[in-house]
Amino acid sequence: MDCIFCKIAKHEIPKEFSYEDKLVMAFPDINPVAPIHILIMPKKHTKDFVDFKDPSVLEKVKDVIQKMVKDQKLEDKGYRIVINGGGAQIIDHLHFHLIGPLGKKVSME
Ligand code: AMP
Ligand code: ZN
Repeated sequence: MDCIFCKIAKHEIPKEFSYEDKLVMAFPDINPVAPIHILIMPKKHTKDFVDFKDPSVLEKVKDVIQKMVKDQKLEDKGYRIVINGGGAQIIDHLHFHLIGPLGKKVSME
């Protein structure tokens, strides 16, 4: 399979990771849309969000996203977590975009 994120997971393509363990990896997006733009993903190839079934990996991904939010000091600066799926994605290896800082919303009340 010719998947760039699988190649990164197997260290076949060099990449400076923001986080890595046996199941999950995170690294900066090569084409950032904000000062902080990190991709967090399971190492195991999963084509689309609807194919994402393993609860333990989902839990681990959640932990790593929370860690990235804290490490990048985005907790109170505004951030967005995005998953593109169903053909809206460019790369068919499930990944979560963490994007920020976006600033705080002003309440309309
Ligand atoms: P998506 O449209 O959700 O599939 O987003 C794929 C993202 O992967 C884009 O934001 C790309 O800039 C990013 N990307 C593609 N190749 C690499 C790479 N080698 N290293 C880091 N980010 C990448
Ligand atoms: Zn893959």
